[in-house]
Amino acid sequence: MAEVLGISQSGVRYQLKKYGLRTERKAGRPSTKSLQTKEDFLGMPWGTASNRLRRLLLFKYVKLANGYLKCWDCGKEIEDASQLSMQHKKPWLHEDLELFWDLDNVTFSHRKCNKPDRNRNAEKTHCPAGHEYTPDNVRFNNKEKTHRICKTCARKKTRERTRKARAENSKYGR
Ligand SMILES: [Zn+2]
Ligand SMILES: [Zn+2]
Repeated sequence: MAEVLGISQSGVRYQLKKYGLRTERKAGRPSTKSLQTKEDFLGMPWGTASNRLRRLLLFKYVKLANGYLKCWDCGKEIEDASQLSMQHKKPWLHEDLELFWDLDNVTFSHRKCNKPDRNRNAEKTHCPAGHEYTPDNVRFNNKEKTHRICKTCARKKTRERTRKARAENSKYGR
């Protein structure tokens, strides 16, 4: 956590204390031996089971409080706990630590909708000028093939450049 936030361990403890969170390192975590027994009985890692339980609780109480659980991304209802994920509205990493802990900045979405690292540009079907991104109309300007160029727009820009160059040239009688 300290590495992610780029602050010292004591800085983390200070932040946790400030926001009323527990600082005991092993809070709620069973000892190694009983952990194994529990994991065997659960049939899954302890972390997975705890997260699932938290998700169920969260789903139950958010739904109780609001009556309806709407996905922040797609606007449709989140119908059961297995679809639920939490996300930040405004990105906090490298931005502002307060944004991470600000409960007004936390919202809910479908797990499938909540992909903070996804390339939103990749989901666009048309260029900013409204030309469709068909295989024929697209080329890539980087080798990872993540940034698409609209060929129609590119041609138009080239034509404009040529026309300007010609106009300049004729102005000077070349
Ligand atoms: Zn959604
Ligand atoms: Zn275009």
